[in-house]
Amino acid sequence: MRIVTGGIAQETNTFQWQPTTLEDFGRPGFGTLVRGEQFLALDGTGTVYGGVVSEARRRGITLVPTTYGSVMPGGRVTRAAFDALSKEILAGIRAALPVDGVLLVLHGAMALEDADDAEGLLIREVRSTVGPDVPIVAPLDLHTNLSDEMVAGLDALVGYKEYPHTDMPETGAAALALLAGIVEGECPPAMAHARIPLIAPNQSMVTTWQSPLKHAIDRAREMEREPGVLAATVFGGFPFADVPFAGISTVVVADGDPLLARRCAAELAGICWERRSDFTIRPTLVAEAIREAMAGPDGSVFVLADIADSGASGTAGDGTTLLRELIEARARSAAVAQIMDPEAVAACVEAGVGAEVTLTIGGKHDQLHGSPIDVTGVVRLIHEGSFPIAGPMSSGTIATRGRTVVLEIGGPGAIELQLTELRGHPHDLNFFRSFGIEPTERRILGLKSAAHFRAAFEPIATKVIEVDTPGISSANLSSFHYERLRRPIVPLDEGVQWAPRE
Ligand SMILES: [Zn+2]
Repeated sequence: MRIVTGGIAQETNTFQWQPTTLEDFGRPGFGTLVRGEQFLALDGTGTVYGGVVSEARRRGITLVPTTYGSVMPGGRVTRAAFDALSKEILAGIRAALPVDGVLLVLHGAMALEDADDAEGLLIREVRSTVGPDVPIVAPLDLHTNLSDEMVAGLDALVGYKEYPHTDMPETGAAALALLAGIVEGECPPAMAHARIPLIAPNQSMVTTWQSPLKHAIDRAREMEREPGVLAATVFGGFPFADVPFAGISTVVVADGDPLLARRCAAELAGICWERRSDFTIRPTLVAEAIREAMAGPDGSVFVLADIADSGASGTAGDGTTLLRELIEARARSAAVAQIMDPEAVAACVEAGVGAEVTLTIGGKHDQLHGSPIDVTGVVRLIHEGSFPIAGPMSSGTIATRGRTVVLEIGGPGAIELQLTELRGHPHDLNFFRSFGIEPTERRILGLKSAAHFRAAFEPIATKVIEVDTPGISSANLSSFHYERLRRPIVPLDEGVQWAPRE
């Protein structure tokens, strides 16, 4: 069996003014850009292709790789970047023909400068390249905003079931297995979806606790063990995308049985809709969280999650609210990952290790994440920025936030702030350990992360507190000015009527 593969994966926060460029995709550690045989090097990593490559090997499937680009979440992708990558993918597919199937690796919430549904566009182009008879299957992120065009162009799809996304390899393998089944099978797969008038903050989708979304995901896992159900997916959607089709949706692929697919998709949608008022998240006031952490017993570790300024949701990561309050509270044993500020990094590098510097940091990217803050501190470490990810999420990959400085504020034992050149999302203990900070020995860890941090940090945390800061990944969805989102929708509108249709 010959399967051609490639794709583009990015999650677009349309409230981020800075576009995502081809250069961003090509910056190792910030983006991933692989071509041809380079795909094989992803085998065994905690990525979608990590699972795809090993599953292909296990099944004796010949994978014909084209081009795959992924990048940190951010603003809308430039048309030039999308066109360049899709051109390569389509040329690769054309050169590979005839093939038995196409495995398209996508995120599901990518928007372009001039189009809301980038995945829909790419799928349409791939479909017109291979024709109606070659099956196309896609593994997708849990944060997919599902459009009708995506469903129409694919034969089957399956999404992650874990958030933090620790099941990327499993989902990649499942998608390839699904595709192989379609190629070998007699029955065409039947796919049905339901889009619910509900957008939800990321924290309500987390699967390390029994979140509202997890109730539906648990049922989807059960369904996949029932006869005739090939894949059952609950997408939480990505709420920071002002596109018409954003929000929670469900998709079920059944073995040649459209009625079964429809009934299952409706049941999953119904579970989410019944719980619609539970999707509200109420973060804690920053000062209150700091007080609680400082009063904790010796040896405790409090994670203060700066959820409104999460790099994994496409923010710049230069919000100052949490740092300002830590300084005002004279916090001790606090480590903060991170504030993006290339100017401040350059000044620290110029001053050198051991130098005392006075800087104005953060709050420079836009007006939405707190104002810049004046600090004096000592440069403790300068790092070129790249480091390995230990896991459990994205293990075996290399991350970078560009040159990184550890600035000690308030003297030894007070606040250790990481200043970085690029944005990032601290989802791994190596975001501290690689910079000489042992996270298990700090009272407060300030993390600019919505939820992915939970995979690595919950096991070491005495308590996780989501703090109330301003930002473009805020859990307070009413604070966003949506113009393109379909209405009415929960929680922005009152009295929304809806029922799942079987
Ligand atoms: Zn996601």
